Amino acid sequence: MTRLTLILVIVATAAVSSALTSAFWFVAFNRGAISQAQPQPQRAPSPAPRPRPPLAVAPSGLAIPVVGVKPEQLVDTYTAARSGGRVHDATDIMAARGTEVVAAAPGTVEKLFFSKGGGGITAYVRSPDGQWQYYYAHLDSYWPGLHEGEALRQGDPIGRVGSTGDASPAAPHLHFAVNRMAAGQRWWQGSPVNPYPLLAGKR
Ligand SMILES: [Zn+2]
Repeated sequence: MTRLTLILVIVATAAVSSALTSAFWFVAFNRGAISQAQPQPQRAPSPAPRPRPPLAVAPSGLAIPVVGVKPEQLVDTYTAARSGGRVHDATDIMAARGTEVVAAAPGTVEKLFFSKGGGGITAYVRSPDGQWQYYYAHLDSYWPGLHEGEALRQGDPIGRVGSTGDASPAAPHLHFAVNRMAAGQRWWQGSPVNPYPLLAGKR
């Protein structure tokens, strides 16, 4: 082998080696580019879990309609006197303004009504059998999207605790009433039943 031949062999070997290396990287790079360009499977965004204490459901089947309130915190205010010789005919559930108000029982939103000198922002929810009306009053606001005709499950949000109407701004609470409804009675009618034992689990 002449010196020139040896040099040519070395140069040729280097060239082939370089070409192979380039080809390898070219293929590797393009494989990577291709795999990156392929669509990735879409993951449906999971809704952010909202931490919420479990519903306090009494033996009556009614849940305490203010989130986080325990049965032992309830006070029976059913027979408390009210202006004009009236009695209360409801239970006041004290809670911080803005606390979530939820459906004590399933039903259909029959009426959303504003009573300036009374319950303020209120919701009337009729039981599926039509025989009970649940009344939520002094709300600070309705839950966004709440509307008449909406079917609620127990625990579905209705609004937030407030002091609208004739409640004291210093003592926000949910005024909660239960009315027995005779056939054909409308949302403003019915016969009051004391909600306290139904919520507190006492007879
Ligand atoms: Zn009240």
